[in-house]
Amino acid sequence: MIELDGAAGEGGGQILRSALTLAMITGQPFRIRNIRANRAKPGLMRQHLVAVQAALQVCGGEATGAALGSQDLTFAPGPVKGGDYAFAIGTAGSCTLVLQTVLPALLKADKPSVLRLTGGTHNPMAPPAQFLQRAWCPRLAEMGAHIDIRLERFGFYPAGGGVVEARVEPSAALRPHTWLARGERRAAYAEAFVAGVPARVAQRELECVGRAMNWSEDQLHVRGLPAEQGPGNALLLTLEHEHATEVFTAFGERSVTSEQVERQVVQRARRYLMSRAAFAEYLADQMMVPLALAGGGGFTLDAVSMHARTNARVIETFLPVRFRFDRQDGVDSCTVALR
Ligand code: ATP
Repeated sequence: MIELDGAAGEGGGQILRSALTLAMITGQPFRIRNIRANRAKPGLMRQHLVAVQAALQVCGGEATGAALGSQDLTFAPGPVKGGDYAFAIGTAGSCTLVLQTVLPALLKADKPSVLRLTGGTHNPMAPPAQFLQRAWCPRLAEMGAHIDIRLERFGFYPAGGGVVEARVEPSAALRPHTWLARGERRAAYAEAFVAGVPARVAQRELECVGRAMNWSEDQLHVRGLPAEQGPGNALLLTLEHEHATEVFTAFGERSVTSEQVERQVVQRARRYLMSRAAFAEYLADQMMVPLALAGGGGFTLDAVSMHARTNARVIETFLPVRFRFDRQDGVDSCTVALR
């Protein structure tokens, strides 16, 4: 049985999520102690528990310690089964993090799958649904994985209530791929989503982005949503290049000014643009499991996070691969190869 320390490295929920995915795919059971030891509220929160339950449904395995607040879990996977699944994450939890836990396993299933998730689609510290659609799934498609994600209803933190549907076609094996440069700019635009929040909030955020990025009005879009999908406000900045698309996100809250919301996305976008890297920090850590499953490949990235380094160690525990982080001519890179 693989033994994992949930306090290692970053000590967050990714250790558990990557372990669940790789246990399902490799058939190896694991035990994890000190789950999310470095977080303010350690142990399984609702969204981590749903990830465990979703994994159990998908592979029919067994778990002990799968309860809210638990800091010790054992997980023994069974064979992954394709089919129709529904997962209710509840309020505050992220649908996209649960999706990313089970999707790689369902690529290996015996038949196609349709997953319906209810919960948060736009949560702080998680990819928004559009990030999966625009940034993550197209890169997986280049590796031979066909995943289609539909956002039916927005669910903002903390109320949730969003709906996401994912369709997955099994694919024999993922192909290694390398992204060294992002290529030519194809499009750049900002969207301010508002639900149950005045449209002028969106307009102000977009004016700030327009000034900071020197963008024209046709690159700035107010996206009004039905009030019952709120209250919520998300500012998304999308940069489409020839070889990679990035989506930078920040959330409006009471007591946070439009300038502060704008600054969060613009800072990340500028860091990315100045770096010459293909991927920004978040897409980089989300491509590590797929590349390791493919047995090789890599990318340049704008910043190597503790999250990525911790993820590398977990993945190396389950798969016969080795990650390397390098820096050449001022650009960081991450490569993975079979050991
Ligand atoms: P927890 O312990 O609370 O579960 P964690 O350690 O798993 O947290 P984080 O490190 O906060 O979680 O990150 C979760 C994942 O969400 C990472 O894969 C990260 O790339 C992704 N993520 C976070 N914020 C964004 C964002 N704004 N856009 C895209 N992806 C994001």
